[in-house]
Amino acid sequence: MAEPITLPEVNERGYYEIRLESIGGLGANLCGKMLGELGADYLGLNAANFSSYGSEKRGSPVKAYIRWCAPEQELRLSSPVEKPHVLGLFHEALAGKLPVTAGVDEKTRVVVNTALSPDEMREKLRLHAGELFCIDALRIAMECKTRVNMVMLGAMAKAAGFIPLKDCEELARQTVGKKYPDLLEANLEGVRRGWSEADSRRFADDGKYPYVPYEEPENRWGYENAPIGGVNPHIGSTVTNDLSASREGWVPLFIQDKCINCGLCDSTCPDMVFQFAPGEYKGRPAMVNRGLDYHHCKGCLRCVDVCPTEALVAGREREQDTLHHFLRNQSLLPAHLEYEDAGPDGWITSDSFDNERRVDNGGVV
Ligand code: SF4
Ligand code: SF4
Repeated sequence: MAEPITLPEVNERGYYEIRLESIGGLGANLCGKMLGELGADYLGLNAANFSSYGSEKRGSPVKAYIRWCAPEQELRLSSPVEKPHVLGLFHEALAGKLPVTAGVDEKTRVVVNTALSPDEMREKLRLHAGELFCIDALRIAMECKTRVNMVMLGAMAKAAGFIPLKDCEELARQTVGKKYPDLLEANLEGVRRGWSEADSRRFADDGKYPYVPYEEPENRWGYENAPIGGVNPHIGSTVTNDLSASREGWVPLFIQDKCINCGLCDSTCPDMVFQFAPGEYKGRPAMVNRGLDYHHCKGCLRCVDVCPTEALVAGREREQDTLHHFLRNQSLLPAHLEYEDAGPDGWITSDSFDNERRVDNGGVV
């Protein structure tokens, strides 16, 4: 057991608290466990952590909570962290969709996985106040061949201001190194770069954006008031079938000139993203790959792996354009919701929503 440190600040109940806001697949749950272990094994504190992740599917919202206190204090609380000392946002796409900055005030250190500057990110988050640390964790993770959670771990430890880097490194050795020794160096590099590359800025309460109090989400639909059939029109659900929230930052890009219309991508894609239609290939009638409907794409990149001609390549989602504009025109989607700009040019070859044309042609494209 390590010699206990003295926590620099605690709330009125004596706890130092961290909240992670993420989407399934980015490793926030593991990161929460590691932070719990960090407190207990390396900082000599009493520590607890737990996560909430709804249906547990990749792409659904995930929250992880970590609580630390002095070793002589009892820690039996397992309620959500409402006013975090450190808030970690694992995906910038969460901004504006969910109240992820609830409970953040001038004293909070907010660490965001984003390529934006702190000034730009504050606008996007409509952040009331606090110290904002921006770290391009996805880029670093790709460069180091590690995961976003390792980079975020390093960045959050730095943001907290009292956690030694060597403890985070040792934690990574014990947690990841034992299980995946071949990946240890990559993970350590991710932690170190997270620690050293965050860009930070402190924002005072200047009245620009109001404080958002933490509220437990209400179950709007239950046994008595759910629509007939239980249809859920919210983003990521079956009606809109928008899988964009599942993407970790990559989309497949389609280079039509290289495509030989073999159909491997179509038979591999689990979400029927590819749009094939009768056409002509090399002077003969053929089913022709007309592009992707990114509305349904969760960014798994299996299609990129199987394409024999490199007609599909991985591209960074945030560098692409047009998805936003397309989705905005869909009457199925609530007007107040925001989307990330994403999707390569040409993706509107999708037939999925070309209802007008389908009607005109009697259902035949
Ligand atoms: S990345 Fe490719 S295989 Fe995966 S959902 Fe998107 S189109 Fe389908
Ligand atoms: S796998 Fe590649 S070549 Fe084959 S249809 Fe798909 S994009 Fe075209």
